Amino acid sequence: MTMEHGEDCCVKVAVHVRPLIGDEKLQGCKDCVAVVPGKPQVQIGSHSFTFDHVYGSTGTPSAAMFDQCVAPLVDGLFQGYNATVLAYGQTGSGKTYTMGTACKEGSHIGIIPQAMAALFDKIESLKNQVEFQIRISFIEILKEEVRDLLDPSAATVGKIENGNGHAKLSVPGKPPVQIREASNGVITLAGSTEVHVSTQKEMTACLEQGSLSRATGSTNMNNQSSRSHAIFTITLEQMRKSDPIMTADGMPIEEMNEDYLCAKLHLVDLAGSERAKRTGSDGLRFKEGVHINRGLLALGNVISALGDEKKRKEGAHVPYRDSKLTRLLQDSLGGNSKTVMIACISPADINAEETLNTLKYANRAR
Ligand code: ADP
Ligand code: MG
Repeated sequence: MTMEHGEDCCVKVAVHVRPLIGDEKLQGCKDCVAVVPGKPQVQIGSHSFTFDHVYGSTGTPSAAMFDQCVAPLVDGLFQGYNATVLAYGQTGSGKTYTMGTACKEGSHIGIIPQAMAALFDKIESLKNQVEFQIRISFIEILKEEVRDLLDPSAATVGKIENGNGHAKLSVPGKPPVQIREASNGVITLAGSTEVHVSTQKEMTACLEQGSLSRATGSTNMNNQSSRSHAIFTITLEQMRKSDPIMTADGMPIEEMNEDYLCAKLHLVDLAGSERAKRTGSDGLRFKEGVHINRGLLALGNVISALGDEKKRKEGAHVPYRDSKLTRLLQDSLGGNSKTVMIACISPADINAEETLNTLKYANRAR
């Protein structure tokens, strides 16, 4: 069975197949995912899926992933287009590794650090003509609540342990972050920290601080980060300093035709896509599972509605309001914005069922 799609889609979908890792090798797992050489196609069992790009140990090297999937979105920011990069997949499939959200992967450089470098390169080349302002926010959505990962007071609170040896979750009395929509459709977060940065070093510090806060603000590190969506957002404001810059033949340079532009790039490390296990989970855990499924479910519905050209032309309803995740991303998914979903999968046979689920979800997005 082969599933193929048209080229003209507002959501691009890539698959990142990681290699077998230590644990899987120790358990004697077999590689059950095949990347078709020279094609953006993956096979698992009798199923075959074609995407925009496939990256894996035997396919296109993942070094190309940034250039093909993310660099065009960074460029688009300078023309005022919002963009979203989503890493989807079961826990352990490589979402955090791919995004670079954890800042501790040794020599591996994920998408976020590469996006930062590309952004500052471009700013450097334009800074004589354009004044830039950059703001960073970093939040996570857990149990349909938005938590500010850059909250200056939470940076220490995250490490304070209560009597049970559990870290506190948030500052008592601090109002939760609210998602607001302005009359022009722009989505803002009320009550979350926005850090103004002017160098890559300052931006990296935000990534590190938020990642630390995400990892420590929990009773169980792995559980928390696998159940929450982490959203690192770069907002770029541009003010033209002078008259339009012309090329030698008198055409305005495309980069900046307006006097003022504002656009944002969301880099999203999604919650683990595995089905919540009913057995052995207490009431709280089950609630978390249900809520996380709500975000991923709504995201799947939104992206599939956006990708359905026929429905889109008929002005069909896109169900952004069904979850905090889709509400927050509303102005950066669909419309003029550019979206890339990177489906992360493990090649191990023990994960075959979840891998197939991930490929089906990603396939629906196209
Ligand atoms: P997730 O965030 O989806 O739960 P991680 O990013 O934490 O998964 O990855 C799980 C493990 O697999 C980590 O030990 C990570 O270093 C390793 N890993 C993930 N992707 C790759 C890759 N492409 N190459 C090598 N190791 C990887
Ligand atoms: Mg992770």
